[in-house]
Amino acid sequence: MTDAAQAHRSAPALARTPEELACLRRSLEGRVALVPTMGALHGGHRALMAAAREQADTIVASVFVNPLQFGPGEDYESYPRDLDTDMRVCAEEGAALVFAPSVEDVYPGEQIVRIDPGDMGRVLEGEFRPGFFGGVLTVVNKLFNLVQPDVAVFGQKDAQQLALVRRMVRDLNMAVDIAAAPTMRDSDNLASSSRNAYLSPAERRSALSLSRALLAGADASVTGPVGILSAARAVLDEAAAGEPPVTVDYLALVDANTFAEVPNDFRGEAVLLVAARVGRTRLIDNVPLSL
Ligand code: AMP
Repeated sequence: MTDAAQAHRSAPALARTPEELACLRRSLEGRVALVPTMGALHGGHRALMAAAREQADTIVASVFVNPLQFGPGEDYESYPRDLDTDMRVCAEEGAALVFAPSVEDVYPGEQIVRIDPGDMGRVLEGEFRPGFFGGVLTVVNKLFNLVQPDVAVFGQKDAQQLALVRRMVRDLNMAVDIAAAPTMRDSDNLASSSRNAYLSPAERRSALSLSRALLAGADASVTGPVGILSAARAVLDEAAAGEPPVTVDYLALVDANTFAEVPNDFRGEAVLLVAARVGRTRLIDNVPLSL
């Protein structure tokens, strides 16, 4: 960690409005890293801030549950919110500043102009959550404009989101570097997520089939795409018949850059992705694979 990040270990400043942010932003020193989050911070967010410390002198974390990326019937209202705990985590991780605006500050009126993620944003997560990536990219764009970071850090946990943010930055010539942090897992190998708090103990046991399926797929990687998918599918089929059941939205093996499903003779960087529901909780996980 740099001296600047160390100096801020105890007390990040809190900006609640874009005006407060603009004022505090002027005093931040050196290379600034932004870590965008929706709060309810866990080990995965800590890993992003650790990566940010490697990338920059000063860390800004944002905490904002973005209504634009939630669909009807999703968990926008019930999404866990606890800014006091988030501030403590940000202090422990050396953030200098936390930006936690209200919805009215981020969306003072109707958001007419939005980022269109294109076809890459309409498959997989985009198919099951219509409008999701448009909402994500629009708020990420706003955060970049408000915070003006030199680098922004995103998690591999949300692999399609990471790829789309990279693509937005490239396609729109945005002057920010994008860094990635690997997926953090809890001790039982479930990918850390704010939504894991919704799981009952029995649901959590069923949910472990997601990481088991990815591991089975990765173990079969020498057999190529068909073998990878059938090894992962076997684990999920068993979980679908379990109690409580796991309902798979998709299992896919995609090109890491385009998110197009790979042909069987594919060579290069791929991602094996799964999304599934257990009870009322929707979970996603993935593993990068070199084929
Ligand atoms: P969220 O607060 O869930 O919107 O996530 C904010 C950022 O944290 C995103 O870049 C996520 O990809 C990242 N993130 C969430 N969970 C994890 C995890 N288990 N490991 C690594 N990064 C994560």
